[in-house]
Amino acid sequence: MLTPPKVFRDVVSQPEAVGQLLSAVRQGKDVHHAWLFTGPPGSGRSQLALAFAAALLCAEGGCGNCNSCQMIQSKNHPDVQVLNTQRVLISIDEVTAFIEKSIQMPAIGKYRVMVIEDADRMSERTSNLLLKSLEEPPKGTIWMICAPSEADLLPTIRSRVRRVQLKVPTVEAVAQLLVEKYGIGFDLAQQSAAQAQSHVGMARRLASNAGARERRSQALRAVLSITDIPSALYVSDDLIKLAASDGAQLTAEIDEVERKELFLSMGVSEESKLNPSSRAQLRRLEEAQKRRATRSKRDGLDRILIDLMGLYRDVLSIQLGTGEPLINVDLVQEITKLANESTQSQSIHNIEEIEKVRKRLERNVNDSYLFDSLAVSFRRKASK
Ligand SMILES: [Zn+2]
Repeated sequence: MLTPPKVFRDVVSQPEAVGQLLSAVRQGKDVHHAWLFTGPPGSGRSQLALAFAAALLCAEGGCGNCNSCQMIQSKNHPDVQVLNTQRVLISIDEVTAFIEKSIQMPAIGKYRVMVIEDADRMSERTSNLLLKSLEEPPKGTIWMICAPSEADLLPTIRSRVRRVQLKVPTVEAVAQLLVEKYGIGFDLAQQSAAQAQSHVGMARRLASNAGARERRSQALRAVLSITDIPSALYVSDDLIKLAASDGAQLTAEIDEVERKELFLSMGVSEESKLNPSSRAQLRRLEEAQKRRATRSKRDGLDRILIDLMGLYRDVLSIQLGTGEPLINVDLVQEITKLANESTQSQSIHNIEEIEKVRKRLERNVNDSYLFDSLAVSFRRKASK
């Protein structure tokens, strides 16, 4: 296979999907007007959609260096609109406003690209609104819809899109990216990729941020120390505090990166040199960042839950003797001890309880209540 253009190089372990998109780019005219990118969170759905947009809009097919490519990378291209909601459900108003933008002619490029992240967060009514736009698309508008799986969308929408399926990248592939692109040492890269369960963004964060690693390890060790109800309630409180501080820290890191990228794309180094239209762009970014901050704690709680799920999978894996590599190699002693002191059915029960809490958290159930009862259910009962 030819080396893909530069904009596709950060997309990890997705040769089939990239190949499919490249052939659409190379065919040139009559690019299909609606695409569906499916894959688990962290597999790079929206990243791949944006790389595709860059390849379509760049005169060189995705060089990564020109103005167009850079504006897309910093999410500032006037012809590439991204809908990423900060809400539990994408509201009908958000979609209405988004559809209105899709009718406009492209400002500078050949196409107007409309990316919807997390399309699984649309109600049926909202989806029907979108369906109309997919049925009668204005010339030059290309929709790119991202969701965990095809089943998350209405069949009527599924029948109008070309499907691009992403796979979960292997731990090795994610580790290799960390080594090659970010200069992380091999062992740390391997450990972070495993702990992040191949979620590229999380793996990179764990590898490059000692604070994030520390908070993660603290959360898991706290859960392993639960023996009775008082200790469970104490740990629950701890987990919520850790989630809040991790969320706040992560938000600050992302805000800073986005701000830098925006300044870079506008070609200025400091705020005092901005012209009025650039200043308006900066305000818009700051407003979006504020909205995101309100969601950061809940995202932090969800990350902890995913980590805990990994912990009990490791325990179960030892109990079953699967020989699978552990997600948490750094805790092998503690995990083996727990595996010996508890039963398989307890581990399965714990994994199911965590999954339930994740679902309830999505529906905004009170987090202290959820975490208290979860921590209490982790108490170690004497094994037979
Ligand atoms: Zn380019």
